[in-house]
Amino acid sequence: MFSRLAGNQRVKESLRRMLAVRRVPGALLFAGEEGVGKKLFALELAKAINCRTPIEEVEACDRCPSCLRIMRSSFPAHTSEDDNKKKLVWSEHRDVALVRPYNRNIAVDKMRELEREANFRPFEGKARFFLIEDADRLNEASSNALLKTLEEPPTTTHLILITSRPASLLPTIRSRSQVIRFAPLSATEIEKRLLEANKTLSQSDAQVLAHASGGSIGRALSTDLAAYQEQRKAMLGVLDALAVTKDRARLLRAAEELCDAKRKDEYEPRLSMLETLVHDVWAVSLGAPAEQLTHQDLREQLTRIGQRLESRRAARWLTQIDTHRRQLEVNINRKVATDALFLAMSEEQG
Ligand SMILES: [Zn+2]
Repeated sequence: MFSRLAGNQRVKESLRRMLAVRRVPGALLFAGEEGVGKKLFALELAKAINCRTPIEEVEACDRCPSCLRIMRSSFPAHTSEDDNKKKLVWSEHRDVALVRPYNRNIAVDKMRELEREANFRPFEGKARFFLIEDADRLNEASSNALLKTLEEPPTTTHLILITSRPASLLPTIRSRSQVIRFAPLSATEIEKRLLEANKTLSQSDAQVLAHASGGSIGRALSTDLAAYQEQRKAMLGVLDALAVTKDRARLLRAAEELCDAKRKDEYEPRLSMLETLVHDVWAVSLGAPAEQLTHQDLREQLTRIGQRLESRRAARWLTQIDTHRRQLEVNINRKVATDALFLAMSEEQG
């Protein structure tokens, strides 16, 4: 059952134990970074409880109509503005629904609808499941409405709150839910899932994506590899101009490209890319082993750059990038600031 899902072995074990003794709490809080599979685990749990022919009374069979319909639940985007604001989103299974924020908030109306629905007996399955995505977006009114449901939920209703920011929830909500913590996935786990999901992907490309994903399978699956490689090449060029060729003209050209108005949305991803590359160069200059690098496949180039500078200088670059990013928040001219950043980074002494 949970074996189809990547990583988080401890979570799988505790959910299996709950299922085996038939003590799945009425309210669960799935906490962990974006893209580690929290929603998929929630759906898997709904599937296990509602399965019509469970294997050994615990595992979902993945074949009965109930399992199949829950597996097809992709929770499509809403069709109208009105739907967005008010409704729960129902899956293909009449007992499994999702609540998600609209305009950064989960409106109180949705929690009232949930309260009504939570009190109904299951339509066709054994239990009703309500997933609350980005539960940290509950405001005061919707939190209070949810608390009413959490006080005495029917035994056939399960609420699963999903969030990457559990600290933003009201303490009273947290204390009424059983918290299940999800860990980021290892690069090896992500690489394995990528290769399973995309048969045409080469192992070395899967490796690159896995290391770039920061432990999020969601991010790994949605990254455009060609664009990523291009970004990386451009930023590696910047490092090369800083440390190896010391070519200021090339640096200023790179700054100009980075600030190209046609690629405004790429500015921040490129700056982050530069940051991860600098971080790797710094790690290399301190003698860190290859496994600790984000860009393991570029080890040779990074070592070549790392050998040309003192680790102190790479550390200074990280601070300079950080300061630059904070300056951009106060609406400073991006091009002027980027020129200044690259020139400051090109100074040998800081
Ligand atoms: Zn089944």
